[in-house]
Amino acid sequence: MGLLPNLKKLMENGIYSENCITDFPPITYPTQVSILTGTYTGNFKKELCHGVPLLNWMERDVSPPLLREYASLDLQIYKLNNDMGNNCRTILEMVGDGNTASIAQFINRGADYIFPERKTKLAMLYLILKYYPNVKKRLVRSNSIPAQKLIKVFEKPKKFFENSEPPIASLLWFMSSDILMHKYGFDSFIYKLNLLHIDKVIGLLIDRLKRMGYLDDTAIVITSDHGNYKVGTIGDLNPFYKQNKLVNYHPLKRRRGNMDLAYYAGVGFFYFKGKNNINDKNEWTYPTIKELEKYGPKRINLLEDLFKIDGSRLMFYKDDQNTYNKGTIHLKRKIGNTGRIIKGKIEYKGSGVDYKTRYTLINGDIDIFGFNNDDLASKLLDNRFHTTQEWLENTYHLDYPMLPDLIPRHLKNPRSADIILSNNESIKFGIHHGKQKSKNLYDHDLGLRKCMTVPLVIGGSLEIPHKHIKVCKITDIVPSLLRLIGKSPHESVVGESLF
Ligand SMILES: [Zn+2]
Repeated sequence: MGLLPNLKKLMENGIYSENCITDFPPITYPTQVSILTGTYTGNFKKELCHGVPLLNWMERDVSPPLLREYASLDLQIYKLNNDMGNNCRTILEMVGDGNTASIAQFINRGADYIFPERKTKLAMLYLILKYYPNVKKRLVRSNSIPAQKLIKVFEKPKKFFENSEPPIASLLWFMSSDILMHKYGFDSFIYKLNLLHIDKVIGLLIDRLKRMGYLDDTAIVITSDHGNYKVGTIGDLNPFYKQNKLVNYHPLKRRRGNMDLAYYAGVGFFYFKGKNNINDKNEWTYPTIKELEKYGPKRINLLEDLFKIDGSRLMFYKDDQNTYNKGTIHLKRKIGNTGRIIKGKIEYKGSGVDYKTRYTLINGDIDIFGFNNDDLASKLLDNRFHTTQEWLENTYHLDYPMLPDLIPRHLKNPRSADIILSNNESIKFGIHHGKQKSKNLYDHDLGLRKCMTVPLVIGGSLEIPHKHIKVCKITDIVPSLLRLIGKSPHESVVGESLF
């Protein structure tokens, strides 16, 4: 922070927390939707929550199934605003009357002004960032252009809105840090240089707001959607596919596919085809646990054999009987290379503000997440149901923070996977819908503390109290901001105001 003077100033004059816990999986699009709606995912058709479980997922409501891939070149990224569903609201939709702006942010439902105006332009910006040869110019452009645009929106609102009022809420995303982190690493010079540049650009923004006389009425929130880690090596899953006669689903060869590995860096999201599809052979129904235990032409037991994948450690899957407000998630953990597997479960009940979860061990004294060695966290292994806030406050300092609360939320979403397999840090696969795409060693999808913990700074206006907050969650940001302007959050909001 000593090298980031503008962030430091905001932090010293406002709220600061170094223990803000993000969503699981800690991957950009689900986490950013959670930040901007103040709620998590879940069964978005039946409960108050958002509908985006992952970067890539399979929609089984239609036949043949639809494969969503937000990072694809055909701009599926813009479907995010629809995929969120109608049982949640973005902060821009919750602030009420007043102008709203969204700068270089794909999640922009409720924005009166969106930059860039044309969809392809935002995708272009992303591509320039990724492939423009001159790295320094790339940084300056990608960070300065959006910030300058936001300044202009404040200076000349009439040009962007129907009246001359400055925006009441604006979103701005500096996407450079994620792209550079994957490509060069969080420990690289270029990544650090970019953070310095972002700080400089934020300083410029603050300075201009001050000169225009808006700073005293403005809260500036700075956060991140995930942390990061470095893997040892890139793996190859082809031998595993071949050996087990598993074929990834492809829309053009739909009859052959018997699985979809929608996303797999360090955490794998596996979709399988249920047998209950007599009417329509292209339909992907949800498989039962029994079917997963004898799957495919080789009748393999996926619930055990997936652990043969290099680096795999944890497995999560749903019970057959689960509903949106009651159910069980089965947990397994492989101990080292001994082949010994221990089991646990998370039960959930209720929905929305009444949602609670209970985490219990089934055999052995070693638990799945390693909570029972910790004084705080072990208190929650008491065979009782606990709230989101209790999981936050008692597990934020450990690996897998809040996971007994967040895993069932994720698996309640009908778009989520049948089996989730989590690796240790030794290997990643970089798979998107069965195809190996990313091959860099830096990623952020594991439930480890270093991926799940992000900083949060809220500063600007003198009305914001000076406060160091020991622990909070990303869904607290939206209700906090709404509190500052005297608005109440939509009923889907799970977070609580930090003021
Ligand atoms: Zn990323």
